Amino acid sequence: MSKLTVTNHTRNVTDFNYIYPVLSRRAGGLSIGINFNVNNACNWRCIYCQVPDLKIGAAPEINLDLLAQELRLFLDDVLNGDFYDRMDVDIEQRVIKDIAIAGNGEPTSLANFDKAVSVIGDIGAECGIFPESHFVLITNGSLIHREAVQKGLKILNHFGGEVWFKMDSATKEGRALVNNSAQTNESVLKNIMLASVSCETKIQICLVDYHARGFSENEREGFLNFLKEIRTTTTIQAVTIYTLARPSQQPEAIDLRPMASEIMQDFALEIQGLGFEAHAVL
Ligand code: SF4
Repeated sequence: MSKLTVTNHTRNVTDFNYIYPVLSRRAGGLSIGINFNVNNACNWRCIYCQVPDLKIGAAPEINLDLLAQELRLFLDDVLNGDFYDRMDVDIEQRVIKDIAIAGNGEPTSLANFDKAVSVIGDIGAECGIFPESHFVLITNGSLIHREAVQKGLKILNHFGGEVWFKMDSATKEGRALVNNSAQTNESVLKNIMLASVSCETKIQICLVDYHARGFSENEREGFLNFLKEIRTTTTIQAVTIYTLARPSQQPEAIDLRPMASEIMQDFALEIQGLGFEAHAVL
């Protein structure tokens, strides 16, 4: 018997290609993960990324029939089979909190992202799991402007879904350091606006303590100024702050620590002061 835990996110709990179950502390129950990036490729390289053998690139072509078949089989196992017993899942965790499109890379890099979202949404609706179970896209937000992603977000919205938009820094230097991304605040704001007009969007901030530097004043100020701008230009209301829950698989891992709880809590209060619903996952 294999017990799923919050630290056991291994993709081979089942024999599926695209589906993986995760007991998520953040979600508070079973999260059905969908991984389009079976090649471990992402257009970013975050220093805290937990994907082993991460490569720069995009999701490969997807087999939509196989995705549909796997999701149907898995949902049937969870809803009508003995999945929870076989996996020895605690009673209070026996709830499908969400279907989360979040894999070993950036999911919106999938060429026909819209088609894949549609397949997942249709099957979730067919099994009657929405709206109790959420339908979530976890994204770094850098490809939101693409046509297939725009279409996909409208489909996600049709199923009552939401976008969790990663924003780990609000400075160019911070993004270069943490995400190895060259994005500017202007392009991030443009994409956040695009996301939020198509679908409910929440901001996710991962704070890590790199080289024991803690949370610099420059980063804190950068975030607060940028969030103020986001507050006045978009309808976004929710911000979640989290930190390292599992070891990074990147070379920087040795110099990374979780951000101190007090810093995260204080920061959440400051973000609340801007009018957001903000909380820290400790
Ligand atoms: S965006 Fe996500 S998958 Fe890509 S490198 Fe960062 S943490 Fe890893």
